Amino acid sequence: MGKTIDVMSLYPKDMNIYGDSGNVLTIRRRLELYGYEPRIHQYNQGDAWPDRVDLILGGGGQDTGQKKIIDDFFKRADLLRSLAADGTPMLMICGLYQLFGEYFETVDGTRLDGIGIIGAHTVGRDVRMIGNLVEHSEQFGDVIGYENHSGQTFLNEGVRPLGHVDQEGRGNNGEDHTEGARVNNVIGTYMHGSLLPKNPAISDFLITTAVTRRYGSFDTSDQTPEQAAELKRLDAVAANARKTAAARPR
Ligand code: GLN
Repeated sequence: MGKTIDVMSLYPKDMNIYGDSGNVLTIRRRLELYGYEPRIHQYNQGDAWPDRVDLILGGGGQDTGQKKIIDDFFKRADLLRSLAADGTPMLMICGLYQLFGEYFETVDGTRLDGIGIIGAHTVGRDVRMIGNLVEHSEQFGDVIGYENHSGQTFLNEGVRPLGHVDQEGRGNNGEDHTEGARVNNVIGTYMHGSLLPKNPAISDFLITTAVTRRYGSFDTSDQTPEQAAELKRLDAVAANARKTAAARPR
């Protein structure tokens, strides 16, 4: 039996659009294929929080979904802040990326406070930014995904973006060519897609960070040759999907 890794899917009922739950499936499958045993938890409003969480995944949601979870989200803010400060790897897409920032002012003028893990704020605009997107990231190479948001996010001075986009009018805010944010082991990004099936480098960063924090090192001694071969096959599928998405900007 492989070593367990506890993965938390955050608010999957209300914060999961454009296939973001594919990120959870990808982490589960890759953990298995590396010879680990994923235990997937789901946290929705009012749920209990498990004793141990090694990796947290959160998806996007419409403004209405964000308003729905916000009160409960604040009850978990201190916990999430201390896990982030402690180095727990997290991936927050779109709607939850915005709420991991300092605030989100929606297009109708409602201000939703965020939990401030990421030094950024978001302002809703009438124009949506939509389409396949390639961004360049030092750590992960080209990151490929699909953005669809009306919120424009501005990073505070000194906050590292996840990457940079070449095109005008895309990414965090359509103005400064940044996309996403990186704080400690927390990644915030507008990239749906789902993101992780097409970006094994980010999946493996989340996995190796979670495993190393829990077990001291990342080793694949429990991996079978069949599992190693399947992982290779998945990476080839990802490479193909990346090529297709990169060739279709909209
Ligand atoms: N409601 C937010 C926006 O449109 C987030 C959308 C999303 O998660 N795709 O900016």
